[in-house]
Amino acid sequence: MSELRYDGRVAVVTGAGHGLGRQHALELAARGAKVVVNDLGGDRAGVGASAGPAQDVVEEIKKNGGEAVANPDNVATVEGAQAVVQTALDSFGKVDIVVNNAGILRDRSFKNMSPEEFDSVIAVHLRGSFLVSSAAWPHLREQGYGRIVNTSSPAGLFGNFGQANYATAKMGLVGFTRTLGHEGAKYGIKANAIAPVAWTRMTEDLLPADAAAKLGVDKVTPLVAFLVHESNESTGEVYTVGGGRVARIMVTEGPGWGKNGDLSVEDIRDNWEAINVAEPHSVFKNVAEQMGPLNQQLRA
Ligand code: NAD
Repeated sequence: MSELRYDGRVAVVTGAGHGLGRQHALELAARGAKVVVNDLGGDRAGVGASAGPAQDVVEEIKKNGGEAVANPDNVATVEGAQAVVQTALDSFGKVDIVVNNAGILRDRSFKNMSPEEFDSVIAVHLRGSFLVSSAAWPHLREQGYGRIVNTSSPAGLFGNFGQANYATAKMGLVGFTRTLGHEGAKYGIKANAIAPVAWTRMTEDLLPADAAAKLGVDKVTPLVAFLVHESNESTGEVYTVGGGRVARIMVTEGPGWGKNGDLSVEDIRDNWEAINVAEPHSVFKNVAEQMGPLNQQLRA
């Protein structure tokens, strides 16, 4: 079997000073990519800043014979995100791959969550992914090639106690990814999202202690690396990954119930069971497809 290589490719990995991002950067560099290692270097809640973590990963890559450059900017600001992409252009002359991975946690039950706790988490995960992708987009479009991976989460896809801010950002990334999939199609740009589970400083007090060995970050990175490889044809998709298991996650719609003519609140009550039926379900590629069943009913 041939090895997947990234020679000649330039990758930007955000939040690559620790955890998953660090592993993505190490793996892409080991397989020939030139990598911009971005990390603001704050704590798990995003407090503080240090150029150290990004620099350490760059040194590790160089020690292993790879090519990388550090960037310590904040992806949540317009200037920071532009600087991340500019670092790739200045150091390596282009950008081909964007892995939006940077993230922070400000968990709190919804009753006690402050607007600041909501905004700061949205800013890093959702706005940061938008800003870095947006800074790279004109370059990807112009060269007719690009690969983007956004980092969602099972907590966002399925909801999780104490994470209204984080879950909102992570589900937002699903809509973002699907839309980039559509808009990038004619420019050779593929955008996908992952919903990982791995043992990092973000999860070490949330996952069972004996999970550390089985849920290594090295069991997430192969999926990211595949999705950003030129041979990947999938786009707009979301995959859950962790502990050696990978699966596609889909937004689905049930068969539904409908009637033409007046619709009353009693109609909804009387057909609630049929409205909630899950099977057979449909997975639509776009909004036009999703309108199909409605159009069919309107023609009936
Ligand atoms: P981590 O804390 O080890 O890594 C996150 C990195 O992002 C840190 O190095 C941090 O300094 C950096 N960062 C934070 N804010 C930044 C900013 N504004 N600009 C630049 N860098 C910034 O955690 P991790 O578990 O490796 O998380 C990586 C991503 O994976 C996050 O988006 C996280 O939400 C997501 N995720 C992780 C898990 C898991 O099980 N570990 C599960 C679901 C999703």
